[in-house]
Amino acid sequence: MDLKNGQPNETSGLVCAHHHLYSTLARGMPAPPRTPRTFREILELVWWRLDRAMDLEMLEWSAKLGALEALESGTTAIVDHHESPNAIEGSLNVIAGACAEVGVRVNCSYGITDRHGPEGASRGLQENSRFLAQGGNGMVGVHASFTCEQDTLLAATELAQQHGVGVHIHVAEGVDDIDAVDRLQGLTQTSWLLVHGVHLPDSHGLSGHLVHNPRSNMNNSVGYAAPGRLGLPIALGTDGIGAAMLDEFRVAYACARERDVTVTPDLVWEWLEGGYLLVPEAAEDRVVWSDEPVDPWRVAYHTSIRPISVEVAGEVVVANGVATRVDAAEIRAKAAEQAKRLFSALETTL
Ligand SMILES: [Zn+2]
Repeated sequence: MDLKNGQPNETSGLVCAHHHLYSTLARGMPAPPRTPRTFREILELVWWRLDRAMDLEMLEWSAKLGALEALESGTTAIVDHHESPNAIEGSLNVIAGACAEVGVRVNCSYGITDRHGPEGASRGLQENSRFLAQGGNGMVGVHASFTCEQDTLLAATELAQQHGVGVHIHVAEGVDDIDAVDRLQGLTQTSWLLVHGVHLPDSHGLSGHLVHNPRSNMNNSVGYAAPGRLGLPIALGTDGIGAAMLDEFRVAYACARERDVTVTPDLVWEWLEGGYLLVPEAAEDRVVWSDEPVDPWRVAYHTSIRPISVEVAGEVVVANGVATRVDAAEIRAKAAEQAKRLFSALETTL
């Protein structure tokens, strides 16, 4: 699939195939109580505290800011994976509503987990079920097999089948989840979204799309996925570090080149285009960029190209670099207020 729409300064809308919109406010958050030394400790001391501190009001502005910044980066579709264990019910509607207001496409899922006991897992399952039953655009989310009982994985698989959608799940991101390949055997379908796959063996027997998140993997020091070895269709995600997909493309390219100097930007551009397998509508969206041609070989080394205008489903949602549907300054101000609330809540969330 060609990303260009015929004009040298135009592309389709970009797709972020794995995001956590709830983490947009996390930038600048207070340092954890001690320095995490492993991936598991990063989850325990940073992300699992953040998600426990989140309420629906914080989530609303976190999602709006994330959606706004996505459009400002030429990204018109987000595949989101959400967790807020103390504000589960209705959380997917808050995210979907925020994205609709800003004008970005979103696919929502709630990450089911047994970290908060069977009742927590059940409430997560119900949030996915309720959202999908009411016609929401989404998948069934699972945090990861290493935080789920096998019954929970089975229940998520069944729910996804009932709704004719896939499961969106972190897979073998760190060594803690090395058993994922066995736990998920026989459950996965081609509609599943397998996120990371860093520690999957080359011959894993799983089905689905692989979402590669190179900057997150570097940040968490979990290793390099080398996604091409897994034999699955590949798309690029940010794992919550914004939705600037040309940035992620450049990082993906540099990561791949570090290990193999024969890798070309064209190969990594194919990963970026893999997002259209997940959100085909985004291929019809239109982004006009500040420089031309928008060519993989130029973009790989070009760090100041930006969107001038963005159209989603025929509607101009960014004109002259400015969002048209919402007041960007207001969203930034409200998000800053909610970030303050979140940071003070974090101080008391151990
Ligand atoms: Zn993730």
